[in-house]
Amino acid sequence: MATKKEQKKMGLTTKIFIALIAGAIVGVIMHYYVPAGYVRDDIVVGGVFYVLGQGFLRLMQMLVVPLVFCSLVCGSSAIGDTKTLGRVGVKTIGFYLMTTAIAVTVATSLANLTNPGLGLDISNIEKGEATVAESTSFADTLLNIIPKNPIQGLAEGNMLQIILFAMIVGILLAKLGEQAETVSTFFAQFNDLMMEMTNMVMSVAPIGVFSLIAKTFTEIGFDAFVPMLKYMGTVFGGLVVQCCVVYMIFLKLFTGLNPIKFLKKFAPVMGFAFSTATSNATIPLSIETLDEKVGVSKRISSFTIPLGATINMDGTAIMQGVAVVFAAQAYGINLGIADYVTVIATATLASIGTAGVPGVGLITLSMVFASVGLPVEAIALIMGIDRILDMCRTAVNITGDAVCTTIVAHQDGSLDRDVFNAATPSK
Ligand code: ASP
Repeated sequence: MATKKEQKKMGLTTKIFIALIAGAIVGVIMHYYVPAGYVRDDIVVGGVFYVLGQGFLRLMQMLVVPLVFCSLVCGSSAIGDTKTLGRVGVKTIGFYLMTTAIAVTVATSLANLTNPGLGLDISNIEKGEATVAESTSFADTLLNIIPKNPIQGLAEGNMLQIILFAMIVGILLAKLGEQAETVSTFFAQFNDLMMEMTNMVMSVAPIGVFSLIAKTFTEIGFDAFVPMLKYMGTVFGGLVVQCCVVYMIFLKLFTGLNPIKFLKKFAPVMGFAFSTATSNATIPLSIETLDEKVGVSKRISSFTIPLGATINMDGTAIMQGVAVVFAAQAYGINLGIADYVTVIATATLASIGTAGVPGVGLITLSMVFASVGLPVEAIALIMGIDRILDMCRTAVNITGDAVCTTIVAHQDGSLDRDVFNAATPSK
């Protein structure tokens, strides 16, 4: 039976990648060779691709709140004692903050080498509308983690509130033991139900991924990002360094696991994050992949992955670091060492405040720009090409969560190396 299941999984992974590439090819062909008009834009792109792509995205999002809630209740009640939970929590948050700070440093250093904003004639670039993030004080951000009404928190999908409430429920369930057995069993069974639902939704992933990618490429084509190639190249370079160098050094150093093997196993989740540009939607798949292929116990990942998808956005921080240098150069503003320190600090905080959905990184970027006195309008310069970078950075965002989770699981004794060392399913 296990082999049959395995075979089905291998098939799915391959199908998702084929869908991704096919979507890009179809999109590019449609952009360049199919004349714009009612059939292409309204029927195919705005109709079929839009409905199938968004439908799939909504299905994935439908799973997030019940799945995170249940698996966290089960996870924290399995960990049971608050000391272990506290230790895991502090460690995880520490790793998340550290990797984000490194990410911004990598980004600003790289951007200072490539100088993406030098020689840019700003007057040539059409200005879009920049959105200014509403600023909330640090105290309020902290207070906001406590839900006034947990049902409202669940209904709004407020991840930090859900995490806190679910953990309290889980800890108390462990404390009550047999007295609350019915409730514990309910959550455990509901959790299984949600995992089954995840498998069901994932079986239509190739269709969803194809539609999402085909739509993006039909709309953007290649031209749209030619003028910003340098900026894009620098962001992309930063993402690659973070993903393939920083994370892999961390992984090797702290766990001794083979980084290449890790990346291979985790690649389908990255592909999924890439096509959806939504960290939140990848939570179920990430937890499952870490469990089945890497050997990370759900006890840990059910807590650290949703937390990471909410507060740990290294890819986003890289884009923000490069964007700061790009905008400063484009506007001829000189940034000193103190400014860079400010950028590192605010981008790390902005990463906490960035929700794991498409495009939010661009909104929190205004916070980072404002911290060093860059004009917020500069965001308009990069808005047009942000979608493709959003896709790339989301893949890095969730890889960071997975690497930190694996390290924390290893240190907690919740990493099953036999699972990791088992033959890698499909490439
Ligand atoms: N799309 C990103 C994510 O979901 C957030 C962002 O950078 O806009 O992780």
